Amino acid sequence: MVENTVPPEARIVILGAGHAGGSAVAFLRQYGFAGPITLIGDEPHAPYQRPPLSKAWLKGEADANSLLLKPAAFYVEQNIDLRLSVGAKAIDRAAKTVTLSDGNVVDYDVLVIATGARARRLPIPGADLYGVLELRNAADAEKLKTAIGPGKRLAVVGGGYVGLEVAASGRALGAASVVIEREARVLARVACPALSGFFQDYHQAQGVEFELNAGVEAFVGDEGKITGVRLSDGRVIACDAAVVGVGAIPNDEIAGAAGLALDGGIVVDENARTSDPAIFAIGDVTRRPLPLYNRMHRLESVPNALEQAKLVASAITGRKAPAPEVPWFWSDQYDLKLQIAGIPFDADRIVIRGKVEAAKFAVFHLKGSQLVAVEAVNAPPEFMAGKMLIGNGKPVDADKLANDAVSMKEVAA
Ligand SMILES: Cc1cc2nc3c(=O)[nH]c(=O)nc-3n(C[C@H](O)[C@H](O)[C@H](O)COP(=O)(O)OP(=O)(O)OC[C@H]3O[C@@H](n4cnc5c(N)ncnc54)[C@H](O)[C@@H]3O)c2cc1C
Repeated sequence: MVENTVPPEARIVILGAGHAGGSAVAFLRQYGFAGPITLIGDEPHAPYQRPPLSKAWLKGEADANSLLLKPAAFYVEQNIDLRLSVGAKAIDRAAKTVTLSDGNVVDYDVLVIATGARARRLPIPGADLYGVLELRNAADAEKLKTAIGPGKRLAVVGGGYVGLEVAASGRALGAASVVIEREARVLARVACPALSGFFQDYHQAQGVEFELNAGVEAFVGDEGKITGVRLSDGRVIACDAAVVGVGAIPNDEIAGAAGLALDGGIVVDENARTSDPAIFAIGDVTRRPLPLYNRMHRLESVPNALEQAKLVASAITGRKAPAPEVPWFWSDQYDLKLQIAGIPFDADRIVIRGKVEAAKFAVFHLKGSQLVAVEAVNAPPEFMAGKMLIGNGKPVDADKLANDAVSMKEVAA
């Protein structure tokens, strides 16, 4: 029996008009919530998708309208009080109010915090030079787009997914791209060595250069504008712009100031509820339970934002919570479609299936006979079957998995 704790006339206020907040509004109306909803966002745009910012949009293959989660008319038709270009400054849990940057105070019965994360900055000399960029939102992407083009040289600090996507987009726009990474391999925090090696080779074949094991000491410039990145060995890598892609920090400060439990993100339960029963939190800003892995984790992905948006809309409307999903993520670089399901916590064995040299393969991560993660490059059947196996926890025969002649259907049977 699901308890419907929220009366139909409850005032719902959502802080953060991004992927999670925007999706929560849509699910709330879809699930029949007809009461007042206020959606507050500090950007000037209605909720939009971020993944294309480092891919199609950067390459000029998508425009601002095509990024929107819902057309502008949706918010009017659905009677959503959408307030843009205004930030939430403080939450008063006793009074159940939120103070905004424009001085207004909004009352809530149920609050949903969906403030996402921001790009981590490097606290080094030269970080404020013109041309030192980050990529988190549409405004950042706009700056980046004007900074790279034919004949320009782009330095990407950080060889994670966003960094590699930007390097690929830079090449597509005719810019030279150099990736500077502190670790000995790209994607060191998020992928296995085989996948790192494959991606580095692929990028190199497209003309991307790499500086690995390279500490960045400073950005150097001339008349306030960046001209290069100084490494800890003293060398300066010349560039016209640098994108810093070294991870994201959850925007959890106002939640913390209001006394909500934090642990590198706002701590929520399996229904996305915080330590205050009247406040939920969803998306990149949360540290959430992963029931399939029996631990807490902070995820940064669109599927996670959607899953938690559904959880919160279900909890508010008294619907049965949807079954836990296997976390997944994708990345597009050149003609490569990378799809990742699961997280390789405690994996003790890797099985590679397919042909790495043909750019069509999957890396399976096993813990004993249990599949815990799959990274699939141009291999949708491996991704789909792998995601299913991670979810249902069936033991996997590693020999069959490694054998291309055995279909994934049979492996998963
Ligand atoms: C360049 C890039 C590429 C990506 N590619 C992929 C991909 O390929 N696949 C994938 O699954 N995921 C990808 N992601 C991650 C994905 O976009 C995020 O996981 C998702 O946007 C999280 O949604 P969110 O609503 O939690 O945060 P966001 O979408 O970041 O939204 C949070 C919003 O809250 C606003 N905000 C913050 N503080 C306040 C405040 N105090 N008051 C009001 N508003 C506030 C922010 O400005 C922002 O608009 C990518 C992200 C980036 C930046």
